[in-house]
Amino acid sequence: MTQKLILVLNCGSSSLKGAVLDNNSGDVLLSCLGEKLGLPDAYITFKVNGEKQKVELKEQPNHTGAVGALLDELKKLGLDSQIAAIGHRVVSGGEKYSESMLVTDEVIQAIEACIPLAPLHNPANLLGIRAAQDIFKGLPNVVVFDTAFHQSMPAHAYTYAIPRKYYRELGLRRYGMHGTSYRYVADEAARFLGKDKNNLKLVIAHLGNGASIAAVRNGKSMDTSMGLTPLEGLVMGTRSGDIDPSVFSFLANNAGLNIQQITDILNKESGLLGVSELSNDCRTIEEEALKGHEGAVLALEMFSYRLAKYVAAMGVAAGGIDAVVFTGGIGENSDIIRAKVLNYCEFLGLKVDEERNIAARFGKDGVITTDDSRVIGVVIPTNEELMIANDTARLTGL
Ligand code: ADP
Repeated sequence: MTQKLILVLNCGSSSLKGAVLDNNSGDVLLSCLGEKLGLPDAYITFKVNGEKQKVELKEQPNHTGAVGALLDELKKLGLDSQIAAIGHRVVSGGEKYSESMLVTDEVIQAIEACIPLAPLHNPANLLGIRAAQDIFKGLPNVVVFDTAFHQSMPAHAYTYAIPRKYYRELGLRRYGMHGTSYRYVADEAARFLGKDKNNLKLVIAHLGNGASIAAVRNGKSMDTSMGLTPLEGLVMGTRSGDIDPSVFSFLANNAGLNIQQITDILNKESGLLGVSELSNDCRTIEEEALKGHEGAVLALEMFSYRLAKYVAAMGVAAGGIDAVVFTGGIGENSDIIRAKVLNYCEFLGLKVDEERNIAARFGKDGVITTDDSRVIGVVIPTNEELMIANDTARLTGL
């Protein structure tokens, strides 16, 4: 039987993350990371069976060159003819798409129309789609939107309390991100807990470099912490999360900064990095906090406290909480942050089990609360690539 493999692509403005998956087994046969795309010294690194190999993209140092090098690598491995379809991560589908779509001209136009909502990401995602169409001629492409899962949010959750004409005229509202991860983790959590996902109230925290939290009731997103852009909500690696919007005029008036400079500070110089004055990386923050670094201690506490406040808030959105789920690099690995968050939320009926909490790390799922907790705390590793591969297989009839 010919194996049918799915290529999953996730393109940034100067990067391309790729993975070739067997969507039946979930096995990743090859992964790659293209970097510095658009610059003369662009390159791509392939990882096959744990072995890494770097290829310079001298002739075509862009997204198309990277996808071309990927095809060459697949030919070398004898896998090229087994690729059946390509699935793309696309950041914003705006209000038009609440599910994944087979790529057509109309879908491409809609992604272009959503560029104002994701000015950095959607153009990069389009580069990836065009490169795939160019290099893997004739293969079907599927797009999986980060925003799609959150289209079920009610108006009172997604509307900003500002004049409604800005929503009507410009689509200014809350959209949320990490939807593909939430969809995967919600299904996995229901399976792991042996519960019916259509009768389950989950609060899921996706904690990576970007971090957000969502209320998922009966399989549907009811609210999430990210808004128009990924800046709103939790404290993140370099993003501030929620602030008083008057910070803009305060910094403009008192520090002489313009809107772009302030936006950059809030996106790139804030969060764990800004508070610790040390690093955006959670591991480093934890190590330094243990040694008593004042900034790291504060950053870690703020991250956990803000997250705990949001757990309680998402309980309102979900109409109660059966389980709090942790995922993403930090959620899956940081027993320290999980313990802090659960301790803040003890009044909700979550009691951390220290042994279980420490055991659940490095890609392992597991319950981290005591058996007598009213609400379960659980770690579920995310797998956005597999979700994209599954959608791609389903929509292309594989
Ligand atoms: P991205 O959002 O880029 O996909 P990840 O989900 O990979 O990010 O998460 C990256 C974050 O996970 C980093 O802050 C990193 O420090 C943190 N992390 C990874 N391993 C650990 C660990 N063992 N302990 C604490 N934090 C960890």
